[in-house]
Parts: sequence; C-alpha cells; structure tokens
Amino acid sequence: MTYTVLSLFPELIDAFFTFSILGKAVQEGLLGYRSVNIRDFARDKHKTCDDTPYGGGAGMLMMPEPVGQALAALGLPNRLDPRLAEVKTYQSKPRVIYLSPAGRPFTQETAKSLAAEAELVLLCGRYEGLDQRIIDAYVDEEISIGDYVLSSGEVAALVLIDATYRLLEGVIAPESLEEESFSGGLLEYPQYTRPECYGMLTVPEVLLSGHHENIRRWRLRKRIEKTLALRPDLIRQGEEAGLFDRETRTIIAELRNSGAG
Ligand code: SAM
Repeated sequence: MTYTVLSLFPELIDAFFTFSILGKAVQEGLLGYRSVNIRDFARDKHKTCDDTPYGGGAGMLMMPEPVGQALAALGLPNRLDPRLAEVKTYQSKPRVIYLSPAGRPFTQETAKSLAAEAELVLLCGRYEGLDQRIIDAYVDEEISIGDYVLSSGEVAALVLIDATYRLLEGVIAPESLEEESFSGGLLEYPQYTRPECYGMLTVPEVLLSGHHENIRRWRLRKRIEKTLALRPDLIRQGEEAGLFDRETRTIIAELRNSGAG
C-alpha cells in the first residue's frame, strides 16, 4: 500500500510517518508514503491557494487550480476534462479520497476495505473546503471521520491512515487483531497487567489461573457484557447480520434475561 497525501501543511503528515510502528513499517518497506504540498502548485508569487466563495458567505475556499494541478501532476485523470491531466497508465488507478464531513462515515469495515487498496490518494481540505469541481473531476469517494466539523482534513487523513496501515500484512501480528474491538461485532474484553494488586483493586482470579478454556469463556462473556452495556447497537447489528455463533447468542440471551442491554 502507498499513501499519497495532498495537503497545504504536509509537515503535519510527514511527522506522523516517522514515529512508532508506522515509522518502522515505512523503513521496512511494508508501506510507501509521499506527501504533496498543494502550495507548490499555486500560480502567484504569494502562493495563494484560497479565495472567496461565489455567491458570498463566510470564509474562504480552496482554489481549484493548485489542487487540480497537484492531482494532475500525479497523473490522475480528470474525468470531466481528460485534457487537463497527463493520464498515466496505472495498473490499478489509486483511489482518490477527499476527507470531508459530508462523506461516508469511517468505520472499522471501511478501514478493512481501504487497507486492501494498492494506493490511496488522500486530499486534505482547509478553510471551507474544496471547490466542487475538484470533487466532481477527481474524487472517487468522500469519507468523514465523524459527525463533527474539524478545521482541517489532515487530522482526518491521519485517522484514516492510522486505522488502515495496522491492518496491512506484516505490520502487526494477526493474533493481536483477532479479538480487538469491532472484530466479530463485539468490543474488546477488559485487560490487566502487572501488578496483581493495584491499591484495593485486584486482577480477576480467572486470568491468573492459567486455564485457557476458562479464560477464553470469561473473555467472551466480558466482551458481550461490555458491548451490551456500551454499544447495544453493535449487538443488534451483529444479530441482524448473523455474525454470532451459538455460544455468543446463548450468553447474549442470558445477559438480557438478567436485565443487561
Ligand atoms: N465547510 C465545510 C462543511 O461545512 O461541510 C467544512 C470545512 S472544514 C472547516 C475544513 C476541512 O476539514 C474540510 O475540507 C475537510 O477536509 C476537513 N474535515 C472537517 N470535518 C471533517 C470530518 N468530520 N471528517 C473528515 N474531514 C473533515
């Protein structure tokens, strides 16, 4: 997977790619990354990239030319006017995503499907966002990270990158992903580490027992309890999608009978 990020402040993204597991994954060649500074494609000496919106209204809008030039320089086709891009022959065209509050809500499922792409081109907005013609001409999909408005797309792009790169092969041990929150339609079970006694609080006895089957059953029950308490909508979705096996369905029924969810 290669991430290509277009931004007016690429330094924000560059810094993220140098740290921790992500930085290591880049060094090991498990993923690729390049940032594009949209300002490099501005036409005037002040490197202006924003202007007032037609029809009036508050705020500024990103001008179409610098963003369009930046996308065209990547060889991406302008579907409304093919003359505006030197069309490069991609084996599979990268998916162009505009991070936007108007987009499809980003979920773990979206992360999984995007992690299977060969290249993602992420377009970060600023000010009041992009001129609609750029969206019409180049964007394959708008993605939102939640029902709130951020001041910039960089933070949203970082969320998308962080949730997808860890799903790429070789980055994290597959066992670590198996029982994570949202896998199998449930949240993760509670976890504990040393010390065994933290003030008055002790680690649940079963986790010290070394009895693998009891631990597995306890963890499953805790996942279900926690999901029923905090995200009953996930349980309903899982039931509708037929995600749960018999053991899980039995525990859900028991917990509901005892008043949970
Ligand atoms: N005028 C826009 C609107 O009302 O929909 C909001 C623009 S916002 C101030 C500036 C940029 O932040 C957007 O172009 C987008 O790239 C990014 N952004 C804001 N909220 C976002 C969200 N919930 N998800 C993804 N990107 C977001």
